[in-house]
Amino acid sequence: MPELLKCRRCRWIGSQAELRSVPDPKKTYLSHNVCPRCGCKSFSDAKEQKNG
Ligand SMILES: [Zn+2]
Repeated sequence: MPELLKCRRCRWIGSQAELRSVPDPKKTYLSHNVCPRCGCKSFSDAKEQKNG
């Protein structure tokens, strides 16, 4: 079962494979996985949901 991530900004939920990879502006050999909807880098675990 793939791990689901939830974007902290726009609340997009998806798997790590759905994230968009963007190069670091300073170190182009690095890349970051960001939200495909808003480009935010902060995610929380979507499985941590409260009941109700
Ligand atoms: Zn987002």
